[in-house]
Amino acid sequence: MEQFQMVIGGKSVDAVSGATFESRNPYTGQPWAVLPDGGPADVDAAVAAARAALDGEWGSMTGFARAALLRRLGDLVGENAERLARLEVNDSGKLFREMSGQLNALGGWYHYYAGLADKIEGRQIPSPNPNYLVYTRREPVGVVAAITPWNSPLLLATWKLAPALAAGCTAVVKPSEHAPVSTLGFAQLFERAGFPPGVVNVVTGLSRETGAALAAHPGVDKVAFTGSTATGRAVARAAAENINKVTLELGGKSPQVVFPDADLAAAANGIVAGVFAATGQTCMAGSRLVVHADVHDELVRLIAERAARIKLGDPTAADTEMGPVANAPQYRKVLGYLETAKSEGATVAYGGAADKALGGLFVQPTVLTGITPESTVYREEVFGPVLAALTFTEEDEAVKLANDTPYGLAGAVWTKDVHRAHRVAAKIRAGSVWINAYRVVSPSVPFGGFKNSGIGRENGLHAVDEYLEEKAIWVELTGGTRDPFTLG
Ligand code: NAD
Repeated sequence: MEQFQMVIGGKSVDAVSGATFESRNPYTGQPWAVLPDGGPADVDAAVAAARAALDGEWGSMTGFARAALLRRLGDLVGENAERLARLEVNDSGKLFREMSGQLNALGGWYHYYAGLADKIEGRQIPSPNPNYLVYTRREPVGVVAAITPWNSPLLLATWKLAPALAAGCTAVVKPSEHAPVSTLGFAQLFERAGFPPGVVNVVTGLSRETGAALAAHPGVDKVAFTGSTATGRAVARAAAENINKVTLELGGKSPQVVFPDADLAAAANGIVAGVFAATGQTCMAGSRLVVHADVHDELVRLIAERAARIKLGDPTAADTEMGPVANAPQYRKVLGYLETAKSEGATVAYGGAADKALGGLFVQPTVLTGITPESTVYREEVFGPVLAALTFTEEDEAVKLANDTPYGLAGAVWTKDVHRAHRVAAKIRAGSVWINAYRVVSPSVPFGGFKNSGIGRENGLHAVDEYLEEKAIWVELTGGTRDPFTLG
């Protein structure tokens, strides 16, 4: 068993209570790490440390100094990518080949936001009253609570931390109880990069109360959350109670819209990438296939053929394409959706069950047809390797089906017709739409959801604004007196 500690105020610490919990490897089924079971007292300590850093050395650093630290951190993330990827694989069963790629790219986020840290500018604003000079300052919002899910802990923590640190904020990160270890390993890098103590603190805990205590903490100024829509609602309520800023990256039920002129082989490949990569456990999973009736059978055949060749198995093996589902509750949830789909009349074109031969928490990549807009599996986020397909005949109908969801995170349009591609992409109510592609993200491109998929955007130039307050400063220029009973 490997032992891990939390990082609070630059020190490696156990929970105040001394309690611990174990993280279980979903592939081996065995516990592999022991870590602190932090609770509200630990959250208090972490928020106090973040506040002290803000009021101390970090708070008086220039954007140039913060940029230098972020660059060093980005380099260190790159140097430690393989080690951190292994921690994520042990915790979540995701493929080493995916997590290694993700972690090797992660430094790029810190480098990108390092480039912005020294470019946070205010404005000089013309005033209709010539007696005043008016300018703005953009100041860090303060202490950020960053609460993350289990599917890509470090990527999703980074989407919050990189812009928050560029803006000059401090943070308390609370990773998921299902995949907490990599965030503890990562937290060790801040001191090595030269960050003052307390700038980034990490609290782990088994109880969901730990996250709730952080989201509702009166010492927090902004909450940045990625997770389910249900928890997002609770987080938003807690933030509203404190009149705090909030960014929510929530669930999805993203459509893949395929027109009859599409390159079907490319579409099949993109659909496999969208719903079977990461065992379908991604917020942006393209889990609804909206396909023209003329090409439905051929496309489903191509997807099922590729699904049949997907190599399930050990997530650390180089040739594995799909690992297990990340934890037992999620495994039961996915299998429950498959049963519901069958009882509601879906046809299983491929898969449709657990893969017992491998032991552990494996689910077959599944393609379901004969779906209707009322089907549960068409409406609800499965967060597993399950594709639900239904047909259309007219473009308007395709758009209507694509938008017939409470979610709005992502989607794709597959067609060779350039006019139609842009026309339909514009009509899809979602934060990201790929044309003839799927599941591509970058530090420079905004990501986030319409509708129930969230509030605010991560990544891109403007993500820094989510961590800044704008202050207007009025300077009286004449030194004269004024009528105190008018509005100036
Ligand atoms: P979850 O909502 O169960 O938990 C997310 C985090 O919130 C965990 O750290 C958890 O401990 C914490 N938490 C639980 N209750 C809380 C409360 N009351 N207040 C504050 N924090 C609380 O989500 P999950 O099951 O870990 O992750 C899967 C979900 O995340 C899926 O719905 C998926 O779509 C979504 N997701 C979204 C994105 C995105 O960018 N939009 C990315 C990845 C995952």
